[in-house]
Amino acid sequence: MLTATDFLHEIHSRGASRIRRVRFRKNRSTIWSLTQDGTVLNVHDAYRRASSALLDAFAILAIEGEVRSATSLSAAQQISSWPELAAEMQRLREAHDERKRDRAPGEDITHCCATPEQRAYLRAAYRYFNHTRFDGALPLDIPVRLSNRMRSALGHMMPAEKRDGTRYVVEIALNCDLMLAGNGAERADTLLHEMAHVADWLESGERGHGASWRAWARRAGCQPTRLYERPVRYRRNRRQSVVRVPPLPRSIQEL
Ligand SMILES: [Zn+2]
Repeated sequence: MLTATDFLHEIHSRGASRIRRVRFRKNRSTIWSLTQDGTVLNVHDAYRRASSALLDAFAILAIEGEVRSATSLSAAQQISSWPELAAEMQRLREAHDERKRDRAPGEDITHCCATPEQRAYLRAAYRYFNHTRFDGALPLDIPVRLSNRMRSALGHMMPAEKRDGTRYVVEIALNCDLMLAGNGAERADTLLHEMAHVADWLESGERGHGASWRAWARRAGCQPTRLYERPVRYRRNRRQSVVRVPPLPRSIQEL
């Protein structure tokens, strides 16, 4: 078994001097990639057992910076057709499916960590925005959950389809850190962002950030952009649970 340092040493000795770092990655889809301007080689964890011939192939890719010649194409093919990789990927997929099956029904993607008070808050906010920003067009019964597993993601909307093709929404989930003090504006913006996804999915069957979603976002008054790099405060200690319930504006309470 090669460590990252061993691997780096092996490809350096084969002339791939640009690489500064090798990172082993355990995932279900990516085999290898070059990042940070071709100086970091990310390699699937299975290649800790790479043979000398496979190390030759990785060195070629690293030297060329990507697949750009017949030599690097054949190196990439040699790497991706390695039988042990397929076996490892299969194992990872099965383990993933098993974890998915183990989840309680209704907990398809996120585990809800909201307290009853937080749930009531989210429900009120959803109803208020549905009424004031979407003309009441969204279903009333879409669960809004809190997730303490999201890291940089702030929220998601889970679209689904019945057998007859009818579209529906399983849930909206928000990062529980959004409940922290100081996140009021981003909390509202994220909820509206996801509600715009609900409207767009139900109306047009779209789930991305295309023109129809942006139209809903503008109509709802949230930023018509992805939820990246927003000024959100996060917990210092991720093991601590977030139980804060933000004060509800009077206008929402009255609805
Ligand atoms: Zn989005």
